[in-house]
Order: sequence, then C-alpha cells, then structure tokens
Amino acid sequence: MSLLSDAVALRRALHRIPELSFAEHKTSAFLKDVFGAIGMADRLVPVGGTGFTLDIPPRSGRAEATLLLRADMDALPITELTDLPFASTHPGCMHACGHDAHMASLAVAAARLLAEPPERVAVRVLFQPAEEGGGGALACIRDGALDGVDMAFGIHVWNELPLGQIVLTTGGIMAGVVSFSVEVRGQGGHGAIPHLAADPIVAAAEFILAAQTIASRRIAPVEPVVVTVGSVHGGDAFNVIPGVVTLSGTVRAYNAETLDRVEAALRDIAAGIGLASGTQLDLTYTRHARPTVNHAAAVALARQAAERVGGPRLEGYRTMAGEDFGEILHVVPGCFVLIGSGDTSGTKVEPHHSPRFVIDEGVLAIAERMHRAVVAVADGDPAALRARRA
Ligand SMILES: [Zn+2]
Ligand SMILES: [Zn+2]
Repeated sequence: MSLLSDAVALRRALHRIPELSFAEHKTSAFLKDVFGAIGMADRLVPVGGTGFTLDIPPRSGRAEATLLLRADMDALPITELTDLPFASTHPGCMHACGHDAHMASLAVAAARLLAEPPERVAVRVLFQPAEEGGGGALACIRDGALDGVDMAFGIHVWNELPLGQIVLTTGGIMAGVVSFSVEVRGQGGHGAIPHLAADPIVAAAEFILAAQTIASRRIAPVEPVVVTVGSVHGGDAFNVIPGVVTLSGTVRAYNAETLDRVEAALRDIAAGIGLASGTQLDLTYTRHARPTVNHAAAVALARQAAERVGGPRLEGYRTMAGEDFGEILHVVPGCFVLIGSGDTSGTKVEPHHSPRFVIDEGVLAIAERMHRAVVAVADGDPAALRARRA
C-alpha cells in the first residue's frame, strides 16, 4: 500500500528523518520515491535546491488558471524530547514546527488530485525547503516555481488553536521579521573616573529604553509592532568602563512600511544618544521574512473551501511569528491558512519550536481535505483566481 493513501504513516516516516534548511536531502529523496512509486518520477521538477514541484494538469487539457499548493520541508536544530515511537532519528534535529504534517497532508492531497484531477484549473504542488532558516521560498521563486501561477495557498498547522479550527485572515497574518544589532562604541576608562570616559553601557541602556517608545510614540497605536532587545554584551569588571557594548534584537510587524518606519526611528535614537553621550551607535537592520499578507479574493476562496471541510472557523486571527510564505504572496496573490492542531483533550499544549512539540494527528486529514477543497472551489470559478491583488 502506498504511503500516499495514509497521511499519518507518511507524516511519521518524515518525522523520523528531520533535516535542517537546504539540507533536506533524505526528506526530498523519500518524497520523490513515494511519488515515483505511483509513476510520477519524471514529472518532478527540482527547485530551490532540495525542493521540487509537481504539476497536475486539468482533465480538460486546457488550464484556465493555475493554483499553487505549498508545503515546507525543513526541521529545526532541536533535540527531540518526546517519547513518540516515531521520534527523530537525527540527533539534534527535530520536526518541531509541523512541517512533516504539511508535507504529508499535501502529498496525500496531490495523489488524490492526480487520481481525480480538477476539470479546468491546473494545480502545481510545491515542496519548499528552508522555511525556518529562511531563503527557501526565494530560492524556489528564482527557479521558476511561481511561473504561470495565478494564486497560491499554504497551510500551517497551529498548536495554539484547538484541533480543526481554520483561520481566515485578510491582510497580515504572520509578521515580517527583522533582526538588528547595535555596536555602541565609547571610550573605556576607570569606573571611578567616568568623566574621562565615554560610557557605552549607559548609552546602551538609554538606547534600549528609548527603543521601547517606538511602539508607543512613533508607530500608530492601531498598527501592531514588536521591538525586542534579545541580547546585551559588554564589560568584564566591576570597576572598568568598557569600550564597546553590543546589542541585538528583533522587530516584527504586519506591514513592510512599519518595518521601514521602525528602522528610521532606531537610527534617529542611535544618532541622538550618540550625540548626547559622546559615543557612537552603529545600527545594522536586516530584513529576513516579509510580512505574510493574505489577499482578499484568495481568503474568500479559502473561506468557501473551509465551509466544505466543515468545523469551526476563526476570522482575523494573526500571530507575530514569521513565515517565508510572505515571499510567495509578494509575487502572486494568495492565502496562508492556519489550522488548529492543539490537543483537544485539555492537556497542556506544547508550543511550536518546543523539544516536546506534538500535534494532534487529526489535523492531517483536515489539512489534506482543505487542500483539495481549495482546488475544488477554484475549479468552479477559475476566473476568480486571476483576479488581481485586492
Ligand atoms: Zn517554525
Ligand atoms: Zn513552521
């Protein structure tokens, strides 16, 4: 019996062999074998290094639109601490975000769509590497994974929500991710003779507190934004003013413009504190994932699909976690859907990226049906897929 008829068995097999971003070699080979076993080997097109696509043409032979369904493939540098019989066999590596579930549910949906293709729309299935490490979506885009695609859908299982809850959110659903670092350079000296030094510790402290006013004073209160300093390093002795302090942190927001405004504010603060304290604050501001912004027309389509799947729907939910599906939605309209995978028995649910992360495997069948429902709804109105960004 093919694993493509059993999402749970497929997910467990993938869970055993987690691999880090752009190193999903066994994972990729395993999936290719599974599709090869149903005669699809020649139709798999490599993209983004370890990723691949599979095109499913419509029954009519003439595609009126093309829909992309995407699953991410990579795992995390975490040592698994679950007692699952199918726990990771790769030391220090774990599927702790549910990407194994994404691959399994999409692979089973793809097999069913191959057996029973839609009438009018073509479906491109994308297995994308390197979501966690970043760069996977862009690598796939560079290799043409979105060429000819009219609309894109992606699913993420989500442990913070009860099993089966389907999230439909127009606009930003996952945040854009920025990392920043600041090197505060002063003039080292004696702790008892501060007036002959330029103290980078006091300047760094002022910077950290001033950065907290960006969310409250510089960005509109209706616009969600997070500015977090996650590391501070400087000094070795109680009676010495060091020469340098380094800070790093992250910024999250649902709008690229907000991330730009935070950068400007951080630069203003760095310049002003440097001037006032006689130190120099050099800011590095690095954009990683773009915000994941869902398009209204695609959300409307996903809503109809969710109605077919049944179960509870949740409108407007969003999270400040990041996701590189935002890169795909920057190129083509589409929708990223979260589906609750939390254990409904009431026990404590482990969050994503925890070494004890487990999902309720009931989500696999729901995600698999959601993929096919999106295709079925699109097949009923291919013109809606070509509606421009809303
Ligand atoms: Zn993750
Ligand atoms: Zn993830």
